[in-house]
Amino acid sequence: MPRTSVIRKTASDFRVAPNWVDYAETRNEFSWENARRELAGMPGGGLNMAFEAVDRHVPDKGDCIAFRFLGADADRVITYRELAALTNRFASLLRGLGIGKGDRLFVLSGRIPELYVAVLGSLKNGTVACPLFSAFGPEPIATRMTLGEAKVLVTTEQLYRRKIEKMRGSLPGLQHVLLVQEQGAQAADIPGTLNLARLLAESSDAFDVVPTRPEDMALLHFTSGTTGTPKGAVHVHGAAITHWATGRYALDLHPDDIYWCTADPGWVTGTSYGIIAPLLHGVTSIVDEAEFDADRWYRILQEQKVTVWYTAPTAIRMLMKAGEEVARKYAFPNLRFVASVGEPLNPEAVWWGKEALGLPIHDNWWQTETGGIMIANTPAFDIKPGSMGRPLPGIDAFIVARDEQGQVRIVEEPDTEGELALRRGWPSMFRGYLNNEERYRKSFAGDLYLTGDLAKRDADGYFWFIGRTDDVIKSSGHLIGPFEVESALMEHPAVAEAGVIGKPDETVGEMVKAFVSLKSGYAASESLRMELLGHARKRLGAAVAPKEIDFLPTLPRTRSGKIMRRLLKARELGLPEGDTSTLEGQS
Ligand code: ATP
Ligand code: MG
Repeated sequence: MPRTSVIRKTASDFRVAPNWVDYAETRNEFSWENARRELAGMPGGGLNMAFEAVDRHVPDKGDCIAFRFLGADADRVITYRELAALTNRFASLLRGLGIGKGDRLFVLSGRIPELYVAVLGSLKNGTVACPLFSAFGPEPIATRMTLGEAKVLVTTEQLYRRKIEKMRGSLPGLQHVLLVQEQGAQAADIPGTLNLARLLAESSDAFDVVPTRPEDMALLHFTSGTTGTPKGAVHVHGAAITHWATGRYALDLHPDDIYWCTADPGWVTGTSYGIIAPLLHGVTSIVDEAEFDADRWYRILQEQKVTVWYTAPTAIRMLMKAGEEVARKYAFPNLRFVASVGEPLNPEAVWWGKEALGLPIHDNWWQTETGGIMIANTPAFDIKPGSMGRPLPGIDAFIVARDEQGQVRIVEEPDTEGELALRRGWPSMFRGYLNNEERYRKSFAGDLYLTGDLAKRDADGYFWFIGRTDDVIKSSGHLIGPFEVESALMEHPAVAEAGVIGKPDETVGEMVKAFVSLKSGYAASESLRMELLGHARKRLGAAVAPKEIDFLPTLPRTRSGKIMRRLLKARELGLPEGDTSTLEGQS
């Protein structure tokens, strides 16, 4: 397919009318007050995320499927009515244990129904929920639970025995452990724990949802740890307004959609868009309990008749790595919209979508701190491959520069590189970093939230990611964003993924070094290395192209799928690796 700089959209590109067709008009008409009116609210001005997500739909959509869990042995389907009853039982159970508003509940499990019930049930009780990746080792679990002042933990018997039992003594604040016991196994009583299934069965399925206020704390999320020690970001019930609006405008959710968000709830995407947003729109979500497998994933898209798919660049790169032959075994006639978040989406990946799935991939940008999608490519609008898209309704994004005194100023001229900033005030903005008030305060300048990402905005209002402020390479007076170099390398047919760092160099300051992993069917060799160096030089020019390329079987990445350039760099320079709690493959 010829690579053009714009992928034009025409009416024949969408099967259902997109929710957002006139960019400026919808933005002009939009207000957060009006968006809030789309939700039911609680008596007295309250707003409860789980009430909006679940109970609100019971009268009209009670029998519709909220979740379809694809388990190892069997699928499990939960309707909105069943979800309402189950989450009521969970909330009653918490109340019975004396756990109330503002208390903290952690979940450590795979993507099993109990996780979803626990998060939503907590929210109904006003209890703050924090799902963790089940693959975390005991130490990162203990650190997060201590920082988050966990009073309750929901986990499985197996995970409890492997990760919690021995360090339980180091968590004096932890009052209750609710265990999901292995199916079919004799429910052995493990000292100091409670049997979740038994307690749920004994609890009432009637519950008066706690009328939380929009500013009440709802969720705790830890950042991915890509640039350093993960930070705990505090989110409030009012965030549901952003989840609703972005589900509508960025993910284009329609009531009949079958939606699959591949993210784990241990990462903010898996909660905001794996639990809350799809439920707010009353759609059916697919949850795959297993880990990535190219064949399986294509089969899910096909067999489950997925219409809207939200995934991540790392998954797309892995599908690309597996080769197009795998994709060609399947067909996706139901799929109508594909979006991605988490890392820059290389133009090559956008095009791959068009070739393998029949649809381009729509990149969007946000962070744990923003709680929801802020900048996006959406169905009706042209895509410029490599760009994150444009700000959503209710979101004002800017490029800012700092002067010598550290004063922040908005840069109006297009195509100027600078830090990406957002005007504060959207409902899902984080309300603090746990135990780090100073860092929180430093993230703001006046009414601007400073994201720590570098970007530029073009004359059409599209935003282009350049790199993390921490990752940018300074070489012979040039500022080089790793993404640009990685994307150029990925255009080579042999390259599956690339990670680029700056390596200290006496003459140029920092020298560009790339690490690449190869697609199946290609082997590392000196001649391939020379070919890639030449390819990059031709594409990027000598000043920006990497001077060194190393081959790696895979690149180090976080559990949320982000390439950890800081680890590539530390390993290259023989420096300490720092916090590796979120490194994939570690437990
Ligand atoms: P930490 O803050 O702990 O270093 P993290 O920033 O990776 O980790 P997240 O909040 O999960 O933690 O990720 C948000 C970041 O991911 C963004 O700030 C940005 O750097 C990157 N990101 C997300 N989406 C995109 C995108 N579409 N294009 C480029 N970068 C993206
Ligand atoms: Mg971050």
